[in-house]
Amino acid sequence: MSGNCLFCKIVRGEIPCRKVYEDDDVLAFHDINPVAPVHFMLVPKQHVVSLLEADESHAALLGKMMLLASRLAKEQGLENGFRTVINSGKGGGQEVFHLHVHVIGGGNIPPMVKRS
Ligand code: AMP
Ligand code: ZN
Repeated sequence: MSGNCLFCKIVRGEIPCRKVYEDDDVLAFHDINPVAPVHFMLVPKQHVVSLLEADESHAALLGKMMLLASRLAKEQGLENGFRTVINSGKGGGQEVFHLHVHVIGGGNIPPMVKRS
């Protein structure tokens, strides 16, 4: 846990969220500023800053989050597919420095990178 971390505060229940799923290791909740009809995030309850800081000790947790992302996406109606995004570090556009996996879908999901 990290005192001033926004997502740690959500994990602790100090800031409300629209919960999608919770277990001992992972919390999933809807993004406050969705970019698509379905947009939620999975966060580890343990404070991990980003994938840049992740190591072998997080392997099982990360694997669990990937499988949960797929299960929850389907439960949220995204049987046809979804996008996962993990922004890592300032160079990756990360804004909240507690590791999270975005799950995005529904509506029109454009190609991620526009090629000329
Ligand atoms: P990132 O840019 O990958 O760090 O994503 C951070 C995400 O957190 C953004 O998509 C924000 O909309 C989202 N966000 C920020 N504050 C909250 C909040 N209180 N509840 C839910 N989502 C939030
Ligand atoms: Zn945190």
